[in-house]
Amino acid sequence: MNDCIFCQIVANKIPNVTVYEDDVVKAFLDITQVTPGHTLVVPKRHVPDIFAYDTELASAVFERIPMIATAIKNSNPDIKGMNIMNNNGEVAYQSVFHSHIHLLPRYDDADDFSIHFGDHSADYDTAKLEAVAETIRHQLEVQ
Ligand code: 5GP
Ligand code: ZN
Repeated sequence: MNDCIFCQIVANKIPNVTVYEDDVVKAFLDITQVTPGHTLVVPKRHVPDIFAYDTELASAVFERIPMIATAIKNSNPDIKGMNIMNNNGEVAYQSVFHSHIHLLPRYDDADDFSIHFGDHSADYDTAKLEAVAETIRHQLEVQ
């Protein structure tokens, strides 16, 4: 057994509170409960981050998200919405390097979750965006 904490949870070597599992994923309650019902969905196969998924694993993992998200939402009438987050890399707040998707139920403005989207629309410049897009499109072509 490797020392990855989520591999150990998948193998039930570490106590966990599971809400769903099958041959592809395990979904368990996050230890921090940022908001009540905060759930992590992890592929059972160890992949460190989104960049390591192949198409087959991505299809299998992400197709299960709506089912689990809907069950969480329907479990509590106070849940008004949900943020779904997948952090990749330390700079993006990833702290456990076994890929996982956070399902964060939202209750009202006073729940303990927030996210900041900086607004740089005043700097909007089509030519600059086209240059950025071109580098991304090129990478998609060579993949
Ligand atoms: P990240 O920061 O990598 O996006 O999220 C990692 C998440 O894993 C954190 O929200 C943290 O609370 C959760 N976590 C870390 N260790 C454990 C654990 O042993 N059990 C559970 N259930 N959650 C954990
Ligand atoms: Zn792992």
